[in-house]
Amino acid sequence: MKKLSHEYLEEAIEDSKPYAANGEIKPGIPGLDETMRDMLGVTIITTDSEIYKSGEWDTPIPMQSTSKIIGLMLALRDFGKERVFQTVGMEPMGDFFNSISSLESPANQKPFNPMVNAGAISVASLIKGQTVENRFNRYLSFLRDITENNELEMDQEVYEAEKKNGARNRSLAYFLQSTGTLVTNVEEALDLYFRMNSISMNSMDFARVGLFLARGGYDPDGNKLIPDHHLRTVKAIMMTSGMYNASGHYAVEVGFPCKSGVSGSIICSVPGVMGMGVVSPPIDSKGNSTAGGALIKKLSQDLQLNMFGIENIKDVD
Ligand code: GLU
Repeated sequence: MKKLSHEYLEEAIEDSKPYAANGEIKPGIPGLDETMRDMLGVTIITTDSEIYKSGEWDTPIPMQSTSKIIGLMLALRDFGKERVFQTVGMEPMGDFFNSISSLESPANQKPFNPMVNAGAISVASLIKGQTVENRFNRYLSFLRDITENNELEMDQEVYEAEKKNGARNRSLAYFLQSTGTLVTNVEEALDLYFRMNSISMNSMDFARVGLFLARGGYDPDGNKLIPDHHLRTVKAIMMTSGMYNASGHYAVEVGFPCKSGVSGSIICSVPGVMGMGVVSPPIDSKGNSTAGGALIKKLSQDLQLNMFGIENIKDVD
């Protein structure tokens, strides 16, 4: 087992960087371009508040799908588990994250889970507030509390691109309306979803989300922002569905809850131990950052972070 240190993290970054060559940067996301082909940054914050960062840790990229876990937390806080899971399922889905066919099965008209697009749009439709503006401000203020970063903002250019390229997400939302699953205003649910995807953050911000989940949901002043049972639900859903249709692979090879986005962002939470944020735009065909994925596998192995490992139970005679 290796020990977490600044030197170790530098080495881990160098070892994982070559995997970026196996991925492609998703076109059509403003702020991401070919100059980021070799980019890899990471921040780790332990539950004792020690901070380790390396590589391009402070380069911001849009949240994209990592925003889905904040939406889920807010909806759980607003409505509770029973109501949220009347709207969306909690089962992993083998199809791609923006699959329409999965909604067609008569046995399952709800989206499979809150981590796929249809599920996240349904969850967005639940978030309380009079107007979209109002709901988004609640989302942003919750995210700012979690990340301790009051400067986080929606990136207007990314938002315009999400709207412009949002045909598939519109189709999903209108399909959900046609089956009676999405009962609030479709355009408003979509608008909120597009805005959530468009907030840009660096790896420190992503790590703070992971830490929030790992350390009981407290803000820096010690206020508890969300009950433990909701945090458990969110982490379980991240574990089973957070890495698109490679979630089983990551459960085996990494063994702690993670959520990725097509921008190349990854949020990881090792309960009781640390939060981790990774930024590396080249992604594989399933949507996961290639160098980022390699890095979290390496960290899990070297630092023995897999939650399912008996070797992690310390102080046992
Ligand atoms: N904006 C993308 C979409 O809604 C985000 C998807 C993702 O990161 O998985 O399709």
